[in-house]
Amino acid sequence: MTNMNVNTKKFHRLVVNWYKKHGRKNLPWQQGISPYRVWLSEIMLQQTQVTTVIPYFEKFIKRFPTIQQLAKATLDEVNHLWAGLGYYSRARNLHKTAQIVHQQYNNKFPSSLQELMLLPGIGRSTAGAILSLSMEIPAPILDGNVKRVLSRVFAIAGWPEERAAQKRLWELATYYTPAQQVKAYTQAMMDLGAMVCTKSNPQCIHCPLIKICQARQLNQINLFPGRKPKISLPIKSTYLLIIANSEQAVLLEKRAPVGIWGGLWSLPECQELKDLKTLLKQRYGLLLKKHQAYPNFRHSFTHFHLEITPVLIEASLGPKHQIAETNRIWYKETTNQLGLPKPVSQLMRRYAKGELTWQK
Ligand code: SF4
Repeated sequence: MTNMNVNTKKFHRLVVNWYKKHGRKNLPWQQGISPYRVWLSEIMLQQTQVTTVIPYFEKFIKRFPTIQQLAKATLDEVNHLWAGLGYYSRARNLHKTAQIVHQQYNNKFPSSLQELMLLPGIGRSTAGAILSLSMEIPAPILDGNVKRVLSRVFAIAGWPEERAAQKRLWELATYYTPAQQVKAYTQAMMDLGAMVCTKSNPQCIHCPLIKICQARQLNQINLFPGRKPKISLPIKSTYLLIIANSEQAVLLEKRAPVGIWGGLWSLPECQELKDLKTLLKQRYGLLLKKHQAYPNFRHSFTHFHLEITPVLIEASLGPKHQIAETNRIWYKETTNQLGLPKPVSQLMRRYAKGELTWQK
C-alpha cells in the first residue's frame, strides 16, 4: 500500500524519542495511571479541550476515587459534577458503564477490545486508549489529534469522518501501532496532534515527522485533514419559563432520560406563548397572572441551533396544582445540587442576581 511505505520501526523511533523529550507527562490522569482514570479522562476529552477537562477530572476523582464509588452515586450527582461539559449522554453512559464494571467485572475493566466496546459510551478509539495507555496492550487509537497527524503525514484526502477516509485512517493507525512501548507511542501521537501538529499553524520545524510528512512535502498542509462538508443547521425555538415561588425558588422539572439534556433538571418549556395559560393550568395546575418575555439567545447543539426566549411568569397555585411530584422541584442554587444544562444554569444565575425582574 503506497501510504504505508514508511518503515514502522523508524516511525516509532521518531515518535517515541520525541515523546521522551517533549511529551506531556504531568496530566492529572497520568498520575497513578489506571484503566479507571484513563477511561474517565478519555470520555471527558471527547469533543472537549484538555484545559477544560482538567478541573472536571479533578473534581470527579476527588468525589469518586474508585469506579465503585462512581457506580454507587446517583445519576443526579454525576450530572451535577458534569454540568457545563456538555454532551450529557457521556455522563449517563459513564454512570451506566461504572455500574456494569462494578456489578459484572468486580470493579476491573475487561482487557479485551471486544468486551470494552460493549460498554456504554466506549467506542473503538476509547477502548484502544484504555488498553494501550493503562494496560500496555497494543490497540490502535484514532481520536481527533491522531486523525489530524495521520491525515497530514500520509496525505489522506477527505473529511476523516467519511467512511473511506476513516477506513484508511484506521488501517494506518493499526499498521503503525507497535507491539512494544505502546503506551509511550499512543501518548506521543496524541501529544503530537495537541502540541505540534495543531489544527491551525502547525509547528512543523519542531515535528519529528517533518521528513516523512507528505502534506508538508506537497506544501498542502491546509488541505489535510479534509473539511467537514458544510451544512446549515436547522433552527428551533422554545420558551423557557421562569416560575418562582414566594421564596424566590424556581420551578424545575427533570427531563426524560434520553434526548437533548436527557436526565437533567430544566425549566418548564412552552412552544407558543398563546398556549401558556392552558399549559400552566393543565400541566402544573397553576393559574397565570402575568408574564414577561426577555430577549432571546441562541444555544447550539451538534444537529441544530436552539433560540431560547426566557419568560418570567407570575402564577398562583390552583386547587389541583401538581408541583409536588417527584420530577419537579423548587430550585435554589445555594441549596440544591443538581445537573442543569448550561443555558438553564445561566438563566438561574441571572435570576438570582436580579437581572430578570418585572419591568414597569
Ligand atoms: S510536519 Fe507539520 S504537518 Fe506534518 S505532521 Fe508534522 S506538524 Fe503536522
